[in-house]
Amino acid sequence: MWTRLPADALAERVFAALAENRSYRSDPILGVPGSFLDREVFPPLPELARFPLLSTLLENPNHIGCHTLPGSEPFFAGTQALEREVVAVCAEHLLNAEPGTIDGYVASGGTEANLQALWTFRNRLRDEGVPHERIAIVASDDTHYSVAKAADLLHLPLHRIAVDPDTRRVITGSAAEVAGALAAEGFQAALIVLNMGTTMFGTVDDPDAVLPPFDAAGLRVLCHVDAAFGGFVYPLTAPDNALDFRDPRILSVTLDAHKMLQAPYGTGIHLVRKGWIDAVLNRDATYVPGLDCTVVGSRSGANAVAVWMILFAHGPEGGRAFCAELIRRTDRFCAALDARGVRYVRQPHMNLVALRAEDVPEAVAERFWLVPETHDAKPRWRKVVIMDHVDDRHLAAFLDALA
Ligand SMILES: *Cc1c(COP(=O)(O)O)cnc(C)c1O
Repeated sequence: MWTRLPADALAERVFAALAENRSYRSDPILGVPGSFLDREVFPPLPELARFPLLSTLLENPNHIGCHTLPGSEPFFAGTQALEREVVAVCAEHLLNAEPGTIDGYVASGGTEANLQALWTFRNRLRDEGVPHERIAIVASDDTHYSVAKAADLLHLPLHRIAVDPDTRRVITGSAAEVAGALAAEGFQAALIVLNMGTTMFGTVDDPDAVLPPFDAAGLRVLCHVDAAFGGFVYPLTAPDNALDFRDPRILSVTLDAHKMLQAPYGTGIHLVRKGWIDAVLNRDATYVPGLDCTVVGSRSGANAVAVWMILFAHGPEGGRAFCAELIRRTDRFCAALDARGVRYVRQPHMNLVALRAEDVPEAVAERFWLVPETHDAKPRWRKVVIMDHVDDRHLAAFLDALA
Protein backbone atom coordinates (compact mmCIF):
# COMPACT_ATOMS: atom_id res chain seq x y z
CA MET A 1 0.00 0.00 0.00
CA TRP A 2 3.01 2.35 0.44
CA THR A 3 4.12 3.11 -3.11
CA ARG A 4 5.59 6.01 -5.02
CA LEU A 5 2.94 8.16 -6.71
CA PRO A 6 3.63 10.63 -9.53
CA ALA A 7 2.93 14.31 -8.84
CA ASP A 8 -0.46 14.36 -10.59
CA ALA A 9 -1.65 11.31 -8.62
CA LEU A 10 -0.54 12.93 -5.37
CA ALA A 11 -2.46 16.09 -6.23
CA GLU A 12 -5.50 14.07 -7.23
CA ARG A 13 -5.56 12.21 -3.89
CA VAL A 14 -5.20 15.42 -1.86
CA PHE A 15 -7.86 17.29 -3.83
CA ALA A 16 -10.18 14.28 -3.51
CA ALA A 17 -9.56 14.32 0.27
CA LEU A 18 -10.33 18.05 0.41
CA ALA A 19 -13.52 17.42 -1.57
CA GLU A 20 -14.59 14.92 1.12
CA ASN A 21 -13.99 17.51 3.82
CA ARG A 22 -16.61 20.11 4.62
CA SER A 23 -15.39 23.49 3.34
CA TYR A 24 -15.86 26.83 5.06
CA ARG A 25 -16.18 28.30 1.55
CA SER A 26 -19.18 26.25 0.43
CA ASP A 27 -20.83 24.53 3.42
CA PRO A 28 -23.06 26.29 5.96
CA ILE A 29 -20.80 25.70 8.96
CA LEU A 30 -22.26 27.77 11.75
CA GLY A 31 -21.08 26.11 14.90
CA VAL A 32 -17.28 26.13 15.08
CA PRO A 33 -14.66 28.76 15.92
CA GLY A 34 -12.72 27.90 12.76
CA SER A 35 -12.64 29.16 9.17
CA PHE A 36 -10.42 29.34 6.08
CA LEU A 37 -7.25 31.37 6.53
CA ASP A 38 -7.54 35.17 6.64
CA ARG A 39 -8.58 36.41 3.18
CA GLU A 40 -6.37 39.52 3.22
CA VAL A 41 -3.16 37.68 3.96
CA PHE A 42 -4.01 34.37 2.26
CA PRO A 43 -6.14 35.25 -0.79
CA PRO A 44 -7.44 32.05 -2.46
CA LEU A 45 -5.76 32.87 -5.78
CA PRO A 46 -6.84 30.58 -8.64
CA GLU A 47 -3.21 29.63 -9.37
CA LEU A 48 -2.97 28.08 -5.88
CA ALA A 49 -5.41 25.42 -7.03
CA ARG A 50 -2.42 23.71 -8.68
CA PHE A 51 -0.74 23.26 -5.30
CA PRO A 52 -2.44 20.64 -3.13
CA LEU A 53 -0.55 21.46 0.05
CA LEU A 54 -1.11 25.23 -0.20
CA SER A 55 -4.77 24.58 -0.97
CA THR A 56 -5.02 22.44 2.16
CA LEU A 57 -3.33 25.13 4.21
CA LEU A 58 -5.84 27.74 3.02
CA GLU A 59 -8.82 25.42 3.62
CA ASN A 60 -7.47 25.06 7.17
CA PRO A 61 -8.88 21.67 8.25
CA ASN A 62 -8.65 21.02 11.99
CA HIS A 63 -7.44 17.50 12.82
CA ILE A 64 -8.30 17.72 16.52
CA GLY A 65 -8.47 14.27 18.13
CA CYS A 66 -7.04 10.94 17.00
CA HIS A 67 -8.28 9.51 13.71
CA THR A 68 -7.18 5.91 14.05
CA LEU A 69 -9.92 5.56 16.70
CA PRO A 70 -13.51 4.93 15.65
CA GLY A 71 -15.69 8.03 15.69
CA SER A 72 -13.99 11.37 15.24
CA GLU A 73 -14.80 14.88 13.96
CA PRO A 74 -16.77 14.32 10.71
CA PHE A 75 -16.02 17.72 9.08
CA PHE A 76 -12.56 16.79 7.88
CA ALA A 77 -12.91 13.06 7.23
CA GLY A 78 -11.16 13.33 3.84
CA THR A 79 -7.84 14.67 5.07
CA GLN A 80 -8.10 12.63 8.30
CA ALA A 81 -7.99 9.52 6.09
CA LEU A 82 -4.63 10.68 4.74
CA GLU A 83 -3.41 11.08 8.33
CA ARG A 84 -4.48 7.47 9.02
CA GLU A 85 -2.34 6.41 6.03
CA VAL A 86 0.62 8.30 7.50
CA VAL A 87 0.21 6.43 10.79
CA ALA A 88 -0.13 3.10 8.97
CA VAL A 89 2.94 3.66 6.76
CA CYS A 90 5.09 4.67 9.73
CA ALA A 91 3.83 1.88 12.01
CA GLU A 92 3.61 -0.96 9.52
CA HIS A 93 6.19 -0.22 6.83
CA LEU A 94 8.91 1.57 8.80
CA LEU A 95 8.37 -0.09 12.18
CA ASN A 96 6.98 -3.52 11.20
CA ALA A 97 3.74 -3.46 13.22
CA GLU A 98 0.99 -5.92 12.33
CA PRO A 99 -1.65 -4.15 10.19
CA GLY A 100 -4.26 -2.24 12.17
CA THR A 101 -2.59 -2.64 15.57
CA ILE A 102 -1.29 0.90 16.11
CA ASP A 103 -3.04 4.15 16.99
CA GLY A 104 -1.40 7.49 16.43
CA TYR A 105 -1.52 11.07 15.25
CA VAL A 106 0.61 13.89 13.88
CA ALA A 107 1.72 15.79 16.97
CA SER A 108 3.37 19.19 17.21
CA GLY A 109 6.80 17.56 17.44
CA GLY A 110 8.91 14.94 19.12
CA THR A 111 8.53 16.75 22.43
CA GLU A 112 4.77 16.31 22.41
CA ALA A 113 4.95 12.75 21.09
CA ASN A 114 7.28 11.75 23.94
CA LEU A 115 5.05 13.49 26.49
CA GLN A 116 1.96 11.83 25.01
CA ALA A 117 3.55 8.37 25.34
CA LEU A 118 4.74 8.84 28.92
CA TRP A 119 1.43 10.44 29.91
CA THR A 120 -0.40 7.40 28.49
CA PHE A 121 1.84 4.99 30.41
CA ARG A 122 1.49 6.89 33.68
CA ASN A 123 -2.30 7.04 33.43
CA ARG A 124 -2.58 3.38 32.50
CA LEU A 125 -0.59 2.38 35.57
CA ARG A 126 -2.67 4.74 37.71
CA ASP A 127 -5.85 3.11 36.33
CA GLU A 128 -4.39 -0.26 37.31
CA GLY A 129 -3.85 0.97 40.85
CA VAL A 130 -0.09 1.60 40.83
CA PRO A 131 0.47 4.59 43.14
CA HIS A 132 1.90 7.64 41.39
CA GLU A 133 4.87 7.80 43.74
CA ARG A 134 5.87 4.25 42.79
CA ILE A 135 6.41 5.12 39.09
CA ALA A 136 9.72 6.38 37.65
CA ILE A 137 10.92 7.36 34.19
CA VAL A 138 14.25 5.85 33.15
CA ALA A 139 16.41 7.03 30.24
CA SER A 140 20.08 7.26 29.30
CA ASP A 141 22.24 10.32 29.93
CA ASP A 142 22.15 11.17 26.21
CA THR A 143 18.35 11.13 26.01
CA HIS A 144 16.68 14.26 24.59
CA TYR A 145 15.72 16.96 27.08
CA SER A 146 12.03 16.59 26.18
CA VAL A 147 12.00 13.46 28.38
CA ALA A 148 13.12 15.58 31.35
CA LYS A 149 10.38 18.04 30.40
CA ALA A 150 7.80 15.24 30.35
CA ALA A 151 9.02 14.00 33.75
CA ASP A 152 8.59 17.51 35.12
CA LEU A 153 5.09 17.95 33.67
CA LEU A 154 3.98 14.48 34.76
CA HIS A 155 5.56 14.96 38.17
CA LEU A 156 7.58 11.74 37.92
CA PRO A 157 11.24 11.30 38.87
CA LEU A 158 13.71 10.74 36.03
CA HIS A 159 16.48 8.23 36.68
CA ARG A 160 19.47 8.23 34.35
CA ILE A 161 21.39 5.29 32.96
CA ALA A 162 25.03 6.24 32.42
CA VAL A 163 26.65 6.13 29.01
CA ASP A 164 30.32 5.51 28.30
CA PRO A 165 31.90 8.98 28.00
CA ASP A 166 33.79 8.02 24.83
CA THR A 167 31.56 5.59 22.92
CA ARG A 168 28.30 7.14 24.23
CA ARG A 169 26.81 3.63 24.51
CA VAL A 170 24.66 2.73 27.48
CA ILE A 171 26.63 1.00 30.24
CA THR A 172 24.71 -2.20 30.98
CA GLY A 173 25.99 -2.30 34.53
CA SER A 174 24.47 1.14 35.06
CA ALA A 175 21.06 -0.11 33.92
CA ALA A 176 21.34 -2.89 36.51
CA GLU A 177 22.34 -0.36 39.20
CA VAL A 178 19.38 1.91 38.40
CA ALA A 179 17.00 -1.06 38.36
CA GLY A 180 18.31 -2.28 41.72
CA ALA A 181 18.11 1.18 43.27
CA LEU A 182 14.52 1.68 42.06
CA ALA A 183 13.44 -1.69 43.45
CA ALA A 184 15.17 -0.96 46.74
CA GLU A 185 13.39 2.41 46.99
CA GLY A 186 10.02 0.71 46.57
CA PHE A 187 9.30 1.71 42.98
CA GLN A 188 6.91 -0.66 41.20
CA ALA A 189 7.10 0.49 37.59
CA ALA A 190 9.68 1.93 35.20
CA LEU A 191 8.69 3.90 32.11
CA ILE A 192 11.82 3.26 30.02
CA VAL A 193 12.75 5.46 27.07
CA LEU A 194 15.08 3.88 24.49
CA ASN A 195 16.68 5.96 21.75
CA MET A 196 16.71 5.29 18.04
CA GLY A 197 19.31 7.98 17.44
CA THR A 198 20.24 10.31 20.27
CA THR A 199 20.17 13.96 19.27
CA MET A 200 23.85 14.63 19.90
CA PHE A 201 25.44 11.30 18.93
CA GLY A 202 22.91 9.35 16.87
CA THR A 203 23.42 6.32 19.11
CA VAL A 204 20.78 3.60 19.03
CA ASP A 205 20.06 1.83 22.32
CA ASP A 206 19.99 -1.96 22.58
CA PRO A 207 16.79 -3.07 24.33
CA ASP A 208 18.51 -6.22 25.58
CA ALA A 209 21.20 -4.15 27.27
CA VAL A 210 18.65 -2.01 29.12
CA LEU A 211 15.36 -3.80 29.78
CA PRO A 212 16.29 -7.19 31.34
CA PRO A 213 17.70 -5.82 34.64
CA PHE A 214 14.42 -3.99 35.27
CA ASP A 215 12.42 -7.19 34.70
CA ALA A 216 14.85 -9.06 36.91
CA ALA A 217 14.35 -6.48 39.67
CA GLY A 218 10.63 -7.23 39.59
CA LEU A 219 9.61 -3.88 38.14
CA ARG A 220 6.74 -3.47 35.72
CA VAL A 221 8.40 -2.17 32.53
CA LEU A 222 6.64 0.01 29.97
CA CYS A 223 8.94 0.81 27.06
CA HIS A 224 8.84 3.80 24.72
CA VAL A 225 11.21 4.37 21.78
CA ASP A 226 12.25 7.93 20.99
CA ALA A 227 12.99 7.75 17.25
CA ALA A 228 12.52 11.49 16.72
CA PHE A 229 16.04 11.75 15.35
CA GLY A 230 16.55 8.40 13.63
CA GLY A 231 13.06 7.18 12.83
CA PHE A 232 13.02 8.23 9.19
CA VAL A 233 16.57 7.00 8.51
CA TYR A 234 17.53 4.00 10.63
CA PRO A 235 14.58 1.70 9.75
CA LEU A 236 15.48 2.25 6.08
CA THR A 237 19.26 1.86 6.48
CA ALA A 238 19.25 -0.88 9.17
CA PRO A 239 15.98 -2.73 8.52
CA ASP A 240 16.87 -5.58 10.89
CA ASN A 241 17.21 -3.25 13.88
CA ALA A 242 15.76 -4.27 17.24
CA LEU A 243 13.75 -1.14 18.06
CA ASP A 244 10.39 -1.58 16.40
CA PHE A 245 6.95 -3.08 16.91
CA ARG A 246 8.19 -6.62 16.17
CA ASP A 247 9.36 -6.54 19.79
CA PRO A 248 6.25 -6.91 21.96
CA ARG A 249 7.97 -5.01 24.78
CA ILE A 250 7.94 -1.83 22.72
CA LEU A 251 4.61 -0.11 23.26
CA SER A 252 5.05 3.29 21.60
CA VAL A 253 7.35 5.16 19.27
CA THR A 254 8.00 8.86 18.55
CA LEU A 255 9.04 9.99 15.06
CA ASP A 256 9.80 13.50 13.80
CA ALA A 257 8.88 14.14 10.16
CA HIS A 258 10.22 17.68 10.48
CA LYS A 259 13.80 16.40 10.75
CA MET A 260 15.05 13.87 8.17
CA LEU A 261 11.75 13.72 6.25
CA GLN A 262 12.00 17.48 5.57
CA ALA A 263 8.34 18.11 6.41
CA PRO A 264 7.21 21.48 7.83
CA TYR A 265 7.60 22.02 11.59
CA GLY A 266 4.66 20.68 13.52
CA THR A 267 5.00 17.08 12.35
CA GLY A 268 6.03 14.87 15.23
CA ILE A 269 4.38 11.46 15.03
CA HIS A 270 3.04 9.60 18.03
CA LEU A 271 2.48 5.86 17.60
CA VAL A 272 1.10 3.58 20.32
CA ARG A 273 -0.26 0.06 20.42
CA LYS A 274 -4.04 -0.15 20.22
CA GLY A 275 -5.80 -0.24 23.56
CA TRP A 276 -3.41 2.12 25.34
CA ILE A 277 -4.72 5.50 24.26
CA ASP A 278 -7.90 5.01 26.33
CA ALA A 279 -5.77 5.91 29.34
CA VAL A 280 -5.66 9.55 28.17
CA LEU A 281 -9.13 9.80 26.62
CA ASN A 282 -10.49 13.09 27.89
CA ARG A 283 -14.14 12.61 28.78
CA ASP A 284 -14.55 16.34 29.34
CA ALA A 285 -13.96 16.99 25.62
CA THR A 286 -17.67 16.46 25.10
CA TYR A 287 -18.03 18.92 22.19
CA VAL A 288 -15.47 16.93 20.13
CA PRO A 289 -17.06 13.89 18.45
CA GLY A 290 -15.07 10.86 19.64
CA LEU A 291 -13.57 13.02 22.43
CA ASP A 292 -9.89 14.00 22.50
CA CYS A 293 -6.89 12.03 23.70
CA THR A 294 -4.00 14.19 22.49
CA VAL A 295 -1.80 16.65 24.32
CA VAL A 296 -2.22 19.27 21.60
CA GLY A 297 -5.98 19.57 20.86
CA SER A 298 -6.62 21.57 17.67
CA ARG A 299 -3.96 21.09 15.00
CA SER A 300 -3.56 21.68 11.29
CA GLY A 301 -4.62 18.94 8.88
CA ALA A 302 -2.15 20.46 6.41
CA ASN A 303 0.72 19.05 8.48
CA ALA A 304 -0.61 15.51 8.07
CA VAL A 305 -1.12 16.12 4.34
CA ALA A 306 2.47 17.39 4.00
CA VAL A 307 3.83 14.21 5.59
CA TRP A 308 1.53 12.05 3.46
CA MET A 309 2.71 13.80 0.28
CA ILE A 310 6.40 13.35 1.12
CA LEU A 311 5.93 9.66 1.98
CA PHE A 312 4.03 8.95 -1.22
CA ALA A 313 6.16 11.19 -3.46
CA HIS A 314 9.11 8.89 -2.77
CA GLY A 315 7.67 5.53 -1.74
CA PRO A 316 9.79 2.94 0.07
CA GLU A 317 12.38 2.65 -2.73
CA GLY A 318 12.79 6.41 -2.94
CA GLY A 319 13.12 6.63 0.84
CA ARG A 320 15.73 3.87 0.93
CA ALA A 321 17.71 5.43 -1.94
CA PHE A 322 17.63 8.86 -0.28
CA CYS A 323 18.83 7.50 3.06
CA ALA A 324 21.45 5.27 1.42
CA GLU A 325 22.91 8.35 -0.25
CA LEU A 326 23.07 10.19 3.12
CA ILE A 327 24.87 7.19 4.61
CA ARG A 328 27.36 6.93 1.73
CA ARG A 329 28.13 10.62 2.17
CA THR A 330 28.55 10.12 5.92
CA ASP A 331 30.84 7.11 5.29
CA ARG A 332 33.05 9.18 2.97
CA PHE A 333 33.16 12.01 5.50
CA CYS A 334 34.19 9.58 8.27
CA ALA A 335 36.90 8.07 6.04
CA ALA A 336 38.28 11.57 5.45
CA LEU A 337 38.22 12.25 9.21
CA ASP A 338 40.05 8.97 9.83
CA ALA A 339 42.70 9.97 7.30
CA ARG A 340 43.22 13.23 9.20
CA GLY A 341 43.22 11.61 12.63
CA VAL A 342 40.13 13.52 13.75
CA ARG A 343 38.26 11.63 16.48
CA TYR A 344 34.51 11.16 16.41
CA VAL A 345 31.59 8.97 17.44
CA ARG A 346 29.27 7.62 14.83
CA GLN A 347 26.47 5.06 14.95
CA PRO A 348 26.70 2.82 11.85
CA HIS A 349 23.80 3.43 9.42
CA MET A 350 23.16 6.89 10.87
CA ASN A 351 23.83 10.27 9.26
CA LEU A 352 25.37 11.97 12.28
CA VAL A 353 29.02 12.42 13.23
CA ALA A 354 29.92 13.83 16.65
CA LEU A 355 33.45 15.20 16.48
CA ARG A 356 35.75 15.56 19.48
CA ALA A 357 35.72 19.31 20.06
CA GLU A 358 39.46 19.51 20.73
CA ASP A 359 40.10 18.17 17.21
CA VAL A 360 38.12 21.00 15.57
CA PRO A 361 39.39 24.60 15.84
CA GLU A 362 36.62 26.73 17.30
CA ALA A 363 36.70 29.18 14.38
CA VAL A 364 36.14 26.32 11.92
CA ALA A 365 33.34 24.89 14.04
CA GLU A 366 31.66 28.28 14.08
CA ARG A 367 32.16 28.99 10.39
CA PHE A 368 30.41 25.72 9.52
CA TRP A 369 27.72 25.97 12.22
CA LEU A 370 28.63 22.75 14.00
CA VAL A 371 26.42 22.32 17.04
CA PRO A 372 28.14 21.73 20.39
CA GLU A 373 26.54 19.60 23.09
CA THR A 374 26.63 22.61 25.41
CA HIS A 375 26.80 26.36 24.86
CA ASP A 376 28.04 27.42 28.26
CA ALA A 377 30.84 25.11 29.40
CA LYS A 378 33.70 24.09 27.13
CA PRO A 379 32.07 21.54 24.81
CA ARG A 380 33.58 18.09 24.39
CA TRP A 381 31.67 17.36 21.19
CA ARG A 382 30.48 19.18 18.10
CA LYS A 383 28.19 17.47 15.63
CA VAL A 384 27.74 17.34 11.88
CA VAL A 385 24.34 16.11 10.67
CA ILE A 386 24.45 14.91 7.07
CA MET A 387 21.18 16.31 5.75
CA ASP A 388 20.01 16.73 2.14
CA HIS A 389 21.77 20.12 1.83
CA VAL A 390 25.02 18.93 3.46
CA ASP A 391 26.64 17.85 0.22
CA ASP A 392 30.18 16.72 -0.62
CA ARG A 393 31.10 20.28 -1.57
CA HIS A 394 30.25 21.63 1.90
CA LEU A 395 31.94 18.67 3.59
CA ALA A 396 35.07 19.10 1.47
CA ALA A 397 35.22 22.79 2.39
CA PHE A 398 34.97 21.84 6.05
CA LEU A 399 37.70 19.20 5.71
CA ASP A 400 39.93 21.71 3.89
CA ALA A 401 39.41 24.21 6.70
CA LEU A 402 40.43 21.53 9.23
CA ALA A 403 43.71 20.85 7.43
C1 LIG B 1 14.43 16.60 18.16
C2 LIG B 1 14.23 15.52 19.14
C3 LIG B 1 13.15 15.53 20.03
C4 LIG B 1 12.19 16.68 20.18
O1 LIG B 1 11.62 17.03 19.05
P1 LIG B 1 10.95 18.43 18.73
O2 LIG B 1 10.43 18.09 17.41
O3 LIG B 1 12.02 19.47 18.77
O4 LIG B 1 9.89 18.64 19.74
C5 LIG B 1 12.99 14.44 20.88
N1 LIG B 1 13.86 13.43 20.85
C6 LIG B 1 14.93 13.40 20.04
C7 LIG B 1 15.85 12.23 20.08
C8 LIG B 1 15.15 14.44 19.15
O5 LIG B 1 16.23 14.41 18.34
